[in-house]
Amino acid sequence: MKSITLVGGGLAGSLVAVYLAKRGYEVNIYERRPDMRNVKIPAGRSINLALSARGLNALHKVGLDTAVLAKAIPMAGRMMHSKEGDLAYQPYGAEGQAINSVSRAHLNVQLLQLADEYEHVHQHFNMKCTQVDLETGTCWFTNTETGVHQEVKADYVIGGDGAFSPVRDKMQRTNRFDYSQSYTNSGYKELSIAATEDGDFAMDPNSLHIWPRGSFMMIALPNPDKTFTCTIFMPYEGETGFDNINTDEEILSFMSTYFNDAMKLMPTLLEDFKSNPVGSLVTVRCYPWNINKATLIGDACHAIVPFYGQGMNCAFEDCVVLDECLEEFGDWEKAMQAYQVRRKPNADAIADLALQNFIEMRDLVGDKDFLHYKKVEHDICDLHPDVFQSQYEMVTFSNLPYSEAKTKGARNTKLVYELIAQGLEDKITDRNFVKEWFA
Ligand SMILES: Cc1cc2nc3c(=O)[nH]c(=O)nc-3n(C[C@H](O)[C@H](O)[C@H](O)COP(=O)(O)OP(=O)(O)OC[C@H]3O[C@@H](n4cnc5c(N)ncnc54)[C@H](O)[C@@H]3O)c2cc1C
Repeated sequence: MKSITLVGGGLAGSLVAVYLAKRGYEVNIYERRPDMRNVKIPAGRSINLALSARGLNALHKVGLDTAVLAKAIPMAGRMMHSKEGDLAYQPYGAEGQAINSVSRAHLNVQLLQLADEYEHVHQHFNMKCTQVDLETGTCWFTNTETGVHQEVKADYVIGGDGAFSPVRDKMQRTNRFDYSQSYTNSGYKELSIAATEDGDFAMDPNSLHIWPRGSFMMIALPNPDKTFTCTIFMPYEGETGFDNINTDEEILSFMSTYFNDAMKLMPTLLEDFKSNPVGSLVTVRCYPWNINKATLIGDACHAIVPFYGQGMNCAFEDCVVLDECLEEFGDWEKAMQAYQVRRKPNADAIADLALQNFIEMRDLVGDKDFLHYKKVEHDICDLHPDVFQSQYEMVTFSNLPYSEAKTKGARNTKLVYELIAQGLEDKITDRNFVKEWFA
């Protein structure tokens, strides 16, 4: 087993190529888009991403975490913006813990550059996969510039080709392949907050900003050029729905009603709102992830909604687990089998948590009771970090399997609510009490 065709040179594809090359495999990456190192990325398509512990762990193992963090902006908490423009801040974790805003394009370029350092990795751009033969490990590509078709046979195929994966598409036609895809009734649109006239950030750069508005919300992440990329998540239909906000008057009226403080910082609002697309948000679940000579990785086998900021982190963690399985089993087939068995429950868990978190972000983060809950939870974490961890901490700042983070986190959340309901907040300084309460 020597040669691998890797369909898709996105985040998961380029990282797994590095892991495989380190083990001596010959990897040919075929990517539909042009080489990102030579082209400008179109605006309005999830420009920046929150990178946290799992993703950093995966990058650390290939020696890229420091270089990625050098270009990242740490966000230590959420900054909530009320309709009136009042601010409320909640730290995400303990002192020194932060999630990191990274540019998708920069990160992808850094990964492709690292992959290039391995002589066993060959990168082919503008190559769109059109067909896959799972039994022989053969893929067919069309060069999107020249129209020339190419047949490529390898010992194995890995589909790192995203939520609408052509490799998975082929698997869907095999017997007993489980597959589901469901869209949220909200889409997303990206806008931009400019740097100030003296070239500084217009808001606190070390927070993830949230404007919770009930059935919809806006978030903003900082960029190294001192701008913020804002994303509005909103239903397609209804009074406050993308379908009904089209004219200049409608856009200005909507923005000034719900996001007045941010709108004042958006000199290109009308242009951005009208020209940036409305993206859709899909959850994809499927199984198995390996069939014959092909395996899936990243969004291709578990696309999730972005509300826990974990899609890429989860995809990067796939690479670590796949590598660990290769190390543990030596045998390729056994390793791929173990990889899918280990990852599937965790991919399902983070898919569920990401859907739940949409409700928390758009609805609850502005709610007084919820803010009080968060404060108590944070105080317990701060006082007794070795005894209690919140669900957010387990998901974001640890490498605990997502399925465990989901179960333990739900239990802890319930117990904190019970503690508040019984008026026992003043007892949280008592270590023995906390130990017993959460035992
Ligand atoms: C709005 C939004 C915000 C997000 N925010 C976060 C966040 O803050 N944190 C986080 O961890 N995750 C976030 N995510 C999720 C994250 O973007 C994905 O989980 C991540 O990109 C998955 O990586 P991937 O390599 O599996 O797929 P992709 O990044 O989609 O890469 C797939 C690659 O395959 C290529 N490809 C597709 N079809 C073909 C074909 N036929 N032939 C050849 N190549 C092909 C594509 O061009 C692409 O390069 C967000 C997603 C969205 C939509």
